[in-house]
Amino acid sequence: MNVRDRIEKLKDLLNKYNYEYYVLDNPTVTDHEYDQTLKELIKLENDYPEYKTLDSPTQRVGGEVSEKFEKVRHDIPMLSLDNVFSFSELKEFDKRVKKAVNEYTYTVDLKIDGLSVSIKYEDGFYKRAATRGNGVLGEDITENVKTIKSVPLKIDDLSPVEVRGEIYLSKKSFEKINAEKIANNEEPFKNPRNAAAGSIRQLNPKIVAKRNLDVFVYYGYGFKTNNHYETIKGLKALGFKVNDYTVYCKNIDEVIEFIKKVTELKSTLDYEIDGVVIKVNEVDLYEKIGYTSKFPKWATAYKFPAEEVETVLEAIDFQIGRTGVVKPVAKLKPVMISGSLVSRATLHNEDFIKTRDIHVNDSVVVRKAGEIIPEVLRVAKDKRTGKEVPFEMIKFCPICNSELVRNEDEADYYCLNPNCEAKHLEGLIHFASREVYNIDGLGEAIMTEFYNDGYIRKISDIFKLFEHKDELIKKEGFGIKSIENLLKSIENSKSNNLDKLIFGLGIRHVGAKTAKILAQTYRDLLEYPSLSFEDLSQIKDIGEATSKSIIEYFSDEEKINLIKELRNLGVNTVFIDERLSGETVFTAKTVVLTGTLQNYSRNDAKSIIEKMGGNVSSSVSSKTDYVLVGDSPGSKYEKAIELKLKIITEDEFNEMIMK
Ligand code: NAD
Repeated sequence: MNVRDRIEKLKDLLNKYNYEYYVLDNPTVTDHEYDQTLKELIKLENDYPEYKTLDSPTQRVGGEVSEKFEKVRHDIPMLSLDNVFSFSELKEFDKRVKKAVNEYTYTVDLKIDGLSVSIKYEDGFYKRAATRGNGVLGEDITENVKTIKSVPLKIDDLSPVEVRGEIYLSKKSFEKINAEKIANNEEPFKNPRNAAAGSIRQLNPKIVAKRNLDVFVYYGYGFKTNNHYETIKGLKALGFKVNDYTVYCKNIDEVIEFIKKVTELKSTLDYEIDGVVIKVNEVDLYEKIGYTSKFPKWATAYKFPAEEVETVLEAIDFQIGRTGVVKPVAKLKPVMISGSLVSRATLHNEDFIKTRDIHVNDSVVVRKAGEIIPEVLRVAKDKRTGKEVPFEMIKFCPICNSELVRNEDEADYYCLNPNCEAKHLEGLIHFASREVYNIDGLGEAIMTEFYNDGYIRKISDIFKLFEHKDELIKKEGFGIKSIENLLKSIENSKSNNLDKLIFGLGIRHVGAKTAKILAQTYRDLLEYPSLSFEDLSQIKDIGEATSKSIIEYFSDEEKINLIKELRNLGVNTVFIDERLSGETVFTAKTVVLTGTLQNYSRNDAKSIIEKMGGNVSSSVSSKTDYVLVGDSPGSKYEKAIELKLKIITEDEFNEMIMK
């Protein structure tokens, strides 16, 4: 793969990870893997600056703004933090600060693993709270933050002030919420950070109030002092909850001493931290030290290395995914890592196992970062006794016994049997899951039971489940109430938007984001079987392999019947425009986009304009109402000037959408 393709691949991967993490609150890779992917992209972009673009994930603050909440514009952008992963990288950071300014000190505090919040006060009263969002626009969570008891609703300072901090969940509350989720057959949250983000973005403040969220405040704006450490003390005096492990350090050596101390004590804390934050203390130096579009250069986060533990790999099992992908999984001698018992770890694929020379009965080093699926890192070869058994990839599906196939350019093996039971069941579990059709009460265990009983064998059976109501009520472990609730959530799910349905169908290469792009472009599922390869591949962001697999999916008669059946059962099969009601600045206006926007992808900007009742056109003409111009605009910009059209900058666009 050449450098350019690798950069594109990394960008795609990071965009996918960001979406799963920030929008779905449901990451699929560890933070460590995310950080490594980002690091590789940063390095390649530094080595080959000609391939660096403004829409790269290295240039944007990670989050996205959900459409569920009102948008809030931050007066001062809410940036992310740069990362260092070792003391030598930390010293490099210190050198860069020293190069910019002479005399400075540091305030150092814990990096709480939650999500940031901005809270504003006016005339001493709590006024508004917002998430970071994409750094410029956040989500209005005023009512939800009000439910957090440690946030004062009145303070003894009448000037307009803004505080920023981290919303988090204690380990105890996290365990409680997950225990409830598991009891209700819902998918548990992956870690406290995702649980906190998912909770604060609940639409119902009453549910938020039950979640026991808390906030540590770590920035204050509008206060008189010019010294960050003093500001923190002032915030505490005003009644805000400030983390007790906030220290003043005269130089980088003192910072390193503090980090060593925190590394020792971190497991005793009642909340998760993923590092330590180092901030220059003298606020008047900030402008001089400067900012990138993503983070301030006067602060950085030292991230703890992921915890590694040794154990024995007792066996290698195989799991069949919904696409038929065969995933080897390590069965481990149970071992405690970062506070939880681990007995399985992913081995990804045959190449992963072979390059690490992993044998059954080996002592292996396992890592669990970000509290997600643990991974086997390497073999402790010095512990080998001769009883180890080399790995052989299986040749036949362990469920249906059909021959497995590995494509030339892929590392995974697939079971291609369309009737493989494992694939069907996994596909149904995927369909009903939280991030897809979100059917409450139809989690993995119940789906498996209904599948084995024959009630649900394909997607349309879910919507016919009511026909078996009388039998289901009599089933052990179920009652009238739980079945009625389940049928109600199935009924409610029928109005999900088209992208959820497309994602749920389980078409190879079509994830949540691709499904959304598809649904916005071709808005009626019934027209999909007649789409050509050209129709699909002309959509930006949809590659050749994806187009091919969509065509393949819809050329199957059975799939076409399924779609028709779903439509007849009342399942929504068209894209519903979530346009805002009432007149907006873009109602009936035609807008053309050119150049790269700092804070929006083309698709984001397009969908905002469309939601506000406007149309986005690809060419400039006298009928164009606005031309939205980003960096390095193309010939459309020149044409717009020539035609004397109304040109808007990204800042003006931000203002227009906030009106
Ligand atoms: P970040 O979490 O690395 O650091 C910035 C954030 O730290 C701030 O926005 C703030 O919310 C928080 N913070 C906590 N304590 C703080 C303190 N004392 N002072 C100042 N800020 C403090 O950056 P990010 O942009 O929020 O997220 C990026 C990170 O999230 C990645 O490094 C990765 O670990 C994780 N991530 C993971 C995935 C995944 O799929 N696993 C995807 C996206 C992001």
